[in-house]
Amino acid sequence: MMCREFRDLHPAFLDDTLSAHAIVEMQLHLTECVRCSRYDTAIRRGLLVLRNLPAVEPSADFLDRLNQKLVAARELDARAEVFRGPGVGSFLATAASVVVVGFLAAMVFDVAKPARDLRLPPVVAVRPPMAPSAPPAGVNSAFVASASMGLPVWPAAMMAEQAQEHFAAEELGR
Ligand SMILES: [Zn+2]
Repeated sequence: MMCREFRDLHPAFLDDTLSAHAIVEMQLHLTECVRCSRYDTAIRRGLLVLRNLPAVEPSADFLDRLNQKLVAARELDARAEVFRGPGVGSFLATAASVVVVGFLAAMVFDVAKPARDLRLPPVVAVRPPMAPSAPPAGVNSAFVASASMGLPVWPAAMMAEQAQEHFAAEELGR
């Protein structure tokens, strides 16, 4: 038996609730191990002292006073609970933010999915000259640039880039 096992079983050993086999093993370990033997003696002495302490006699009205204090503490807790509870405003704000986060997550996953399939060749994506001619249909140069660099394409960033592109194109008189 290891010391750790002895210490784990020691309370049951003291309470005499171990199996006969375990008790024999514990006693065997006590004869073999000085440290556990000392431990056992210390615990037994402590228990002996504890059991021989004079019993504490509560005063006659102890139970009444204890109950009064418990009731008072419970009332205080209940009042604090009402006070601390979230207001309707903060509750609605929390609910709204949860909805917004969920909506954004849905948007990200919906929009990001096709982007993942868009495996573009690792061509150095030089921004095409802002010629008055239209870029290839359906392909946005800013989007190609960010996708080919392997950067995560966030829908918001994509939209921002596209917006800039449109503004620039409009300024150039496309
Ligand atoms: Zn031991």
